[in-house]
Amino acid sequence: MRMTTDALVLRVTDTGESDRLVTLLTAEYGVIRAFANRAKKINSKMHGATQSLCYGDFSVYRSRDSYIIDDATAKEVFFGLREDIERLSLAQYFCALCAELVPEMEPARDILRVVLNSLHLLETKRRSNDFLKAVTELKLLSLSGFMPDLTCCPHCGEEPAGEFYFNVAEGCLYCRASGRGGIKINATVLAAMRHICSNPIERIYSFSLPADDEKLLMQVCEKFLLSQTKRTFKALDFYKSLI
Ligand SMILES: [Zn+2]
Repeated sequence: MRMTTDALVLRVTDTGESDRLVTLLTAEYGVIRAFANRAKKINSKMHGATQSLCYGDFSVYRSRDSYIIDDATAKEVFFGLREDIERLSLAQYFCALCAELVPEMEPARDILRVVLNSLHLLETKRRSNDFLKAVTELKLLSLSGFMPDLTCCPHCGEEPAGEFYFNVAEGCLYCRASGRGGIKINATVLAAMRHICSNPIERIYSFSLPADDEKLLMQVCEKFLLSQTKRTFKALDFYKSLI
């Protein structure tokens, strides 16, 4: 079976003298791990296109028990991200999230679009790191079956008003009277979360909020992500050690 698709290189592992094992986030086939033979050789056509954070067109075929990349053409390499260790580690964290959340052989065009948009904004420094991290985490979760319920308190059925709490384990809002725990959030942060979850991808970055609320949004989204995925991410830990 031969597959042609656009894809982002999430991770690269050197194997043997000159080969690479490449983890791809493809639009058509989800996350695929494929070998790129002789790609480490500098004169190989695939050398540039099979580096991490490269976005391009890939041709992949299935041999007996593995996938092989036999052609790759780079369209975008996000070179600017390599100049800044904070932004680079955040980009690697986004890649690790995709590798965790996207199954093999399921189309992932929307998730690929979110990550490409986030990498572009990260590279051009148009939005803060905190903002891009929060938007990316929450939208990737929403697209991967972890959409939070931000409508009303499941305890009393009331719209959130006054004091309310986002419960990261259950992915829902509780009022104070419910007696259920969570992170105390405010109307601005709730509006931001609703905006990210409910809007089409081209609109999810079109809002801004005061610095304190942006910080709170960043903390809530990170805790929600870690709670839902039930794991840690080396790239996230490294990013947080830098800031
Ligand atoms: Zn309630």
